[in-house]
Amino acid sequence: MAAAGLAKALHGMGVRIRLIESPHIGGVGVGEATIPPIMDFIRQLGIAEDDLVRDVKATYKLGIGFRDWTRTGHFYFHPFGPTGPGLESIPFQAYWLKMFLAGDAAPLEDYSIQAAAATEGRFSRPVHAPNTPLNKLTYALHFDASSFARYLRGFAEARGVTRTEGEVRSVSIHPQTGLVESVTLEGGESVTADLFVDCSGFRGLLIEEALETGYEDWSRWLPCDRAVVVHSEPAAAPAPYTLVTARDAGWQWRIPLQHRNGNGYVYSSAFITDECAATTLLGNLSGRLPGAPTTLSFTPGRRRKAWSRNVVALGLAAGFLEPLEATSIYLIQRGIAMLLRFFPDRDFATADIERYNRVLELEFHRVRDFLLMHYSQTERSGAFWEHCRSMPLTDTLLEKIELFRSHGRILREDAELFPVMSWLSVMVGQNIIPRRYDPLVDSLEPRKIRAKLDQLRSDIRRCVQSMPSHWDFIRNSPPRTAAK
Ligand SMILES: Cc1cc2nc3c(=O)[nH]c(=O)nc-3n(C[C@H](O)[C@H](O)[C@H](O)COP(=O)(O)OP(=O)(O)OC[C@H]3O[C@@H](n4cnc5c(N)ncnc54)[C@H](O)[C@@H]3O)c2cc1C
Repeated sequence: MAAAGLAKALHGMGVRIRLIESPHIGGVGVGEATIPPIMDFIRQLGIAEDDLVRDVKATYKLGIGFRDWTRTGHFYFHPFGPTGPGLESIPFQAYWLKMFLAGDAAPLEDYSIQAAAATEGRFSRPVHAPNTPLNKLTYALHFDASSFARYLRGFAEARGVTRTEGEVRSVSIHPQTGLVESVTLEGGESVTADLFVDCSGFRGLLIEEALETGYEDWSRWLPCDRAVVVHSEPAAAPAPYTLVTARDAGWQWRIPLQHRNGNGYVYSSAFITDECAATTLLGNLSGRLPGAPTTLSFTPGRRRKAWSRNVVALGLAAGFLEPLEATSIYLIQRGIAMLLRFFPDRDFATADIERYNRVLELEFHRVRDFLLMHYSQTERSGAFWEHCRSMPLTDTLLEKIELFRSHGRILREDAELFPVMSWLSVMVGQNIIPRRYDPLVDSLEPRKIRAKLDQLRSDIRRCVQSMPSHWDFIRNSPPRTAAK
């Protein structure tokens, strides 16, 4: 992603980009889910979406279904996209909540085209149909991160990036400036550069092993530290959403790709053994398994500085927050966008680096809060979930929850990743119910609200019926286009 993004944006500046990858050290590619900003990344590169989806066997994603998360037997959907429209300057969530609290509104899922289409297995891109929900369809992709990386490698090489297969064995630091001067490959070649982007995964070859930047361990908020993963052959056509199911010591994902499902059980090693976790995962899968499960360990948290001296860490090298809301690839994308925003010259101005780090820190904090809410607000029983309920909440999350509890208010801070619909659906889904509704809603006649909600719901139902099935949409995608 970094090589492709930088090659595209820095084209014509005389910048030379070199990509060093070891063919022997495997990357993570477990069947990844993404969130809507990935579509901007793909468009900014000028990649034809249909070609990418075909080549990496991706599927579309309209949101996440949470099964048994709030309590066993319960299901709620976290859809992408905006809430329904406002009514006379009163936001959707305010007037829907008034009716919902009075038992006079359908579930939130009925007022989101993404949720309604996903649960019916339908998909379409937005269609130019003003004033209909089809206009605002919002989606992302499921793909295997390794396939996506291979696709982008081709894109980057076609734009002048030089790729070297080799293992970095040592890192040399300038004794006076403290900047990384060069890396030495297994064959003895020394590669010098002005700027190094460390995408070496959890180990953080440059940012940590060489520069000792430090890591903030966030286990006190995010208790899971392992994942056991396995692919399975699909037993049915791929659904246009990620399914996550709560388990005794964490949760299981199903990410449908065109040719297989990515499955994994993310768990806390303090509450279950690796063997038990693997047995649980395997016992909850259908479809043939072409390979054996593998286990990955991680420490939830972030590198103290994603940018240190002349090294910018991206991806797992910059930190990892479990994939419940599919945010890691987004954080890479954000890191690249911010690197371009504060692109350095050889002086590496401290102000640029500090601002970059602050922006990325804030992004990590916001994702952490959103994830933490999923754990802290459930009614599930068992030692793991009881532990989750006893975890301290951050002040920022407490404020969000209290604002919602008091009058159903959700404030989206500027440029905050998760929109109002995300907070609303997860809070209501997890049974955080406001004590009162926003008093301003009383300026609307209940008859008007009811009519608006009925209209919205029936428009959504009609639009969903006009959409093809997700699988037909993929199979009938137009033939290859020439790359820009
Ligand atoms: C269990 C799990 C589930 C996930 N699910 C999701 C999800 O649903 N959505 C999402 O957005 N993200 C998800 N992620 C995160 C996502 O997989 C990663 O963000 C993404 O794969 C990028 O990883 P990376 O490139 O940073 O690291 P890696 O994939 O680990 O790649 C590291 C690269 O560095 C190279 N390398 C390492 N050492 C050397 C060396 N010495 N010399 C040369 N090359 C070297 C390797 O060859 C490899 O290519 C998940 C991660 C895990 C662990």
